[in-house]
Amino acid sequence: MKLRVDLDLCAGHGRCYEIAPELFGEDEAGHCVLLVETVPPALTDRARRAADNCPESAIGIE
Ligand code: SF4
Repeated sequence: MKLRVDLDLCAGHGRCYEIAPELFGEDEAGHCVLLVETVPPALTDRARRAADNCPESAIGIE
């Protein structure tokens, strides 16, 4: 599983890094910073939950 974040869509709600701080961080403006591209198997459920909870649908999963 790989993650992508469309920073043109990200509005800095912060749900991703609250749900999965191992996968997502934040910049000084609160926008998402992807910490890993390839998700470890133990974190795939959390990655999906973060993507499902992004209000801007900015997180993509492949
Ligand atoms: S939840 Fe979505 S909009 Fe909010 S910081 Fe994360 S990627 Fe950006």
